[in-house]
Amino acid sequence: MFREASSATTDRTAAAERPSYEPSWQRRVARGLVPARIRPQLFGAVRSALHRGHEVHCPCCGGEFDSFIAHRGVHPGRCPRCGSLERHRLLIRFLRERTDLFEASLDLLHIAPEYGLQRQLQSLENLSYRSADLESPLAMDNVDLLDLPYPDSSFDVVLCSHVLEHVEDDRLALREIHRVLACDGRAILMSPIDPARAATLEDPTVTAPADRHRVFGQSDHLRLYGRDFAERVAAAGFAVETVAYLGELDAGKIAREGLRRESDLFPNDDVFICRPLQAR
Ligand SMILES: [Zn+2]
Repeated sequence: MFREASSATTDRTAAAERPSYEPSWQRRVARGLVPARIRPQLFGAVRSALHRGHEVHCPCCGGEFDSFIAHRGVHPGRCPRCGSLERHRLLIRFLRERTDLFEASLDLLHIAPEYGLQRQLQSLENLSYRSADLESPLAMDNVDLLDLPYPDSSFDVVLCSHVLEHVEDDRLALREIHRVLACDGRAILMSPIDPARAATLEDPTVTAPADRHRVFGQSDHLRLYGRDFAERVAAAGFAVETVAYLGELDAGKIAREGLRRESDLFPNDDVFICRPLQAR
């Protein structure tokens, strides 16, 4: 259920026709045979062997390979070993270079954990790490982002990347993130954003996966964020700092670490640092 829809007009005709990518039958069979929890390691080992080389480097797992693997037809795509995508590699690099997450003693909640990021963060002795997701087998806690089971002010950092566009009530999710954050904590968010769109597009009548794919850009997206994303986050009680981190990196590093998605769809890869404003 959508609790609220924006006043933005649905522009179904303007949305580009986007190809839909379904898993191949080989992938579906492999998924059926291998338990979900061990898939990343097993498949990663196989793919690493197939992509031996030194041309590219993954900052998530530290591996070197001949290339990344196109994801849904888009390059550079996934890391052969840890499966990280461009945005995951950019985020781990940002966290390492621009935050204290690799040194400070912090309680961190990682929402919808990505395998490569989780492995890296979980290995840090300075972090008290928890991961949460509605159903992912990778998550330590299977919980609803709209009703988190953690007490107020439980975490110094909440990491939430490419999640809010899948959530029915993203405003409520943001308030939950705000609630579980310490007053001096921060949420670190990333999200697919259409930079050509001023206001976020929502339409509760668009429910079929094919229609969501066409209108919102992916079959499981419930809205298409526009340039008002930071304002939307701020409305939940955050001071939002937008960091265009990719723009700070040189072209050679971006290419070697596969940090830029070669697609016009969701080119925005800003990192949003969100600090709670109000006292609770
Ligand atoms: Zn990797």
